[in-house]
Amino acid sequence: MTPCDILLAGRVITMDESRTIIQDGAVAIKAGKITAVGAQADIVQAWAPARKIAPARAIIIPGLIDSHTHMAQALVRGMVANELPNILRILVPVTSAMTPEEVGTAAALCATQLLSSGVTTVCEGAGGMGDAHLEATLDALKTAGIRCNFTIGRGDQSFSHAALYAQTRDKSSAIRRDGEAEADLLRTETYLNRFPPRAGSGRITAGVSANSVVEFSPHYMNLAYELALRHGAKLHIHASRDREEVEFCLATYGSRPIEQLAEIDVLGPGTVLAHAMLATEREIRLMGEAKCNVAHSAVECVNILNAVPNVRMMRELGVNVALGGDNAANDMFRVMHAAWVIHTATRGIANYDPEYLSAEDILAMATIDAARLLGLDDAIGSIETGKQADIVVLDGADPHLFPVQALVPELVRHASRGDVRYVLVAGEVVRDPEGVRTMNLTELAARADRHAPRLRAIAAAGRYRSLCC
Ligand SMILES: [Zn+2]
Repeated sequence: MTPCDILLAGRVITMDESRTIIQDGAVAIKAGKITAVGAQADIVQAWAPARKIAPARAIIIPGLIDSHTHMAQALVRGMVANELPNILRILVPVTSAMTPEEVGTAAALCATQLLSSGVTTVCEGAGGMGDAHLEATLDALKTAGIRCNFTIGRGDQSFSHAALYAQTRDKSSAIRRDGEAEADLLRTETYLNRFPPRAGSGRITAGVSANSVVEFSPHYMNLAYELALRHGAKLHIHASRDREEVEFCLATYGSRPIEQLAEIDVLGPGTVLAHAMLATEREIRLMGEAKCNVAHSAVECVNILNAVPNVRMMRELGVNVALGGDNAANDMFRVMHAAWVIHTATRGIANYDPEYLSAEDILAMATIDAARLLGLDDAIGSIETGKQADIVVLDGADPHLFPVQALVPELVRHASRGDVRYVLVAGEVVRDPEGVRTMNLTELAARADRHAPRLRAIAAAGRYRSLCC
């Protein structure tokens, strides 16, 4: 018998290439990595663990991955409720006014929400955050113990968007601010060097952000893509999210947002498009040819009343689509469930097709496909020997998970964060039945309550309707 640190036993959904499910399985963990996975009878004979975790009817899945969020919004999410449009009128003013301490609290809160619901990796779009705010975020992430790929970048383009009723005298336009792209990407590179995108067991990795085609010039995009490729990182771009963005691109470049990105040659496997909600069929074909990635935020589609993208078409044409919570839900069980509902409701019903987006695809989009989106699929996203031990153990003993007849569809349709018992990141048990071990919830709640009134007042000033309580 070989010693190991932890042995997990139960039904194992591996999400390996063959989508293997081991009904009576076990996983051995040593030095933060998965050292063996297979039939429980074989694993217990070969490995002598210091700790065994095997709740009744346990279901063992890869750690879930949230491929797109903005953690600072965790402290202000209620302030945009029932108000549209809200991003530039409420969210941006509030998050821009946040102090480093407030941003750190929001990141700690978001990380805690994610860990407690079985999310082991998150992609944080830190965007144009300053150094002090970014360091506060990174400190919170390190304390929480969640794995994080953070992306940064500041825009280099001034823009004017001609609103509908102003277009008799105005036209959308943009002016690049020379030199800013180069200076900003030098800063990004210092973070790429400090948090290498492909670091083995390092939980924090960096990526490149060109937040939108509105604020970032084509010149910036080209330099940013080159920088990302040189470091093995991804370039993250919000694209085709808003009607106003599409109009801006047509007025300024004569092309829709994703057409424009293809024209300037920054669409490829190294590109992550956030949302792509308003992508046309032509744009989806361009995305497929480029084999780029899409971070699809199913709940956010509803939250901001934008289109539901044709995710199946994207996947069939070669786009790697993964799921993100986008702080509309810091809970990937909710996001997976929402994906099933909104895609079936919009396209499944229209075609009498219950498998428009299968449960197997949805779970892949929250695990291995999300790992691929982040360029981390050699380390996380599935339960396979040699990978990081980022694993979630669900308690399958509650009646809503009885009897197991089709495990993955049942997981997507019926499981919830309430079933999560243990969460391991790099072999460390960061959540157990007592809660998230790395965070003091009483202290965290006190911090959140202390910050909330000031932020609420800023949000209230931007709202059309008053907050309800
Ligand atoms: Zn976003």
